Amino acid sequence: MQCETCGKHFIEGKRVKIEGCIATVCNDCARYGQVVGDVRPHVEPPRKPVVAPVSQAAPALSKVLAAELSVPTLKEDYGKLIKDAREKRSLKMEDFAKMLSEPESLMHRIESGKFEPADSLAHKIESALHIKLFEKSSSMILAGGGHGASKDLTLGDVVVVKKKEK
Ligand SMILES: [Zn+2]
Repeated sequence: MQCETCGKHFIEGKRVKIEGCIATVCNDCARYGQVVGDVRPHVEPPRKPVVAPVSQAAPALSKVLAAELSVPTLKEDYGKLIKDAREKRSLKMEDFAKMLSEPESLMHRIESGKFEPADSLAHKIESALHIKLFEKSSSMILAGGGHGASKDLTLGDVVVVKKKEK
């Protein structure tokens, strides 16, 4: 705290009334006014909820997005890819599920595109059928996309980038 009267920094002081105004002053200056309360460093008012300013939140957000975008993502038509590859090998879904030690019902949901397999399962399917289920997403486009520093990236930019990629 800084004394409003003498400018000295202090840890413990007083709130005083000087000429009708409340001031926070050091103990030395407290005698110039009428003491109305103590100033203690440990007695703090309840903290207000911290709302991070946009300027601070934005880089963190774009960092997350950049990380997400640079990670290979499951292709949207993974179900069809799996089904086609399996049928090409004349594999019954039942046998395919056994190969992967997964329930047939789960494989059915995956092939119909209703359930995204976890990365580990997707990789098992990839090696079982010799197909690629993952694709690299837009990290390259983002790097040279003319949007300036990645910290200026907004959600809108990401949506545009994702659309352009198709
Ligand atoms: Zn003072």
